[in-house]
Amino acid sequence: MAMGQSAAAPCANCLAWNRPQTPFRIFGNTYYVGPHGLSTILITSTSGHVLIDGALPESTEQIVANIRSLGFRIEDVKLILNSHVHFDHAGGIAELQRLSGARVMASKWSAAVMRKGGVGRGDPQFGALRPIAPLKNVSELRDGESFQVGAIAVTAHLTPGHTPGGTSWTWKSCEARTCRDMVYADSLTPVSSAGFRFSKNREYPGALEDFEKAFVFLEAVPCDVLVTTHPENSDLWDRLQARDEGATPDPMVDSGACRRLALRGREQLRRRLADEAVPERP
Ligand SMILES: [Zn+2]
Repeated sequence: MAMGQSAAAPCANCLAWNRPQTPFRIFGNTYYVGPHGLSTILITSTSGHVLIDGALPESTEQIVANIRSLGFRIEDVKLILNSHVHFDHAGGIAELQRLSGARVMASKWSAAVMRKGGVGRGDPQFGALRPIAPLKNVSELRDGESFQVGAIAVTAHLTPGHTPGGTSWTWKSCEARTCRDMVYADSLTPVSSAGFRFSKNREYPGALEDFEKAFVFLEAVPCDVLVTTHPENSDLWDRLQARDEGATPDPMVDSGACRRLALRGREQLRRRLADEAVPERP
């Protein structure tokens, strides 16, 4: 969601996105370790951890300190995953990989961007984004592929549209005997550079089919606890506050959240396509 920014332009939202956030347990072995405005998720096990998303390059120090303040170590992160390769979610990954030595896995499209350090023409926001630090060592994943780190099994689901390589993630986290279906959903917003059309585009001809695939996934996935790339899009701060105030049942758990996110995504796309259908004035 970084419209109107480029390498030359300052990032209007970055300061707000990068505001410090005390890390906290979301559920079981799943923790929030990102800055306040950009999610970074830590899933822990006794034999290594998984990290999803790296926020901004300037978020790295915070993420590392947050992991440490929870009693874990960046050096024990074995696998780093990503939602989509815009600088506000992937900007810190190169440095986090250097500090941890972790394997980085990404969709084919996202992996190509990571190697190159910037998005190509198929990206709706091409030309309006800060570049990211290139990664030498990134492997490609397949839709539905699962990755094991210790007792953690995390599964990749391609949910493209916001970018052609967008990926959402699922895993299970348990507290005592209660296990929850965790979902980390990628951005679904049809945001673009000026002039880009989702309805008809030579550089991204499959955009609408891709969005549909993402919506269908979210409508069907078992979903107890949802976290989104931008935490407020899944009301994370309201849920956290309610939980801190002692609300029961646990406000983090909301099995309708993924379906509602899909519904909102469909509505945003519908409005965007309606705008695109209005003929441009001469
Ligand atoms: Zn984005």
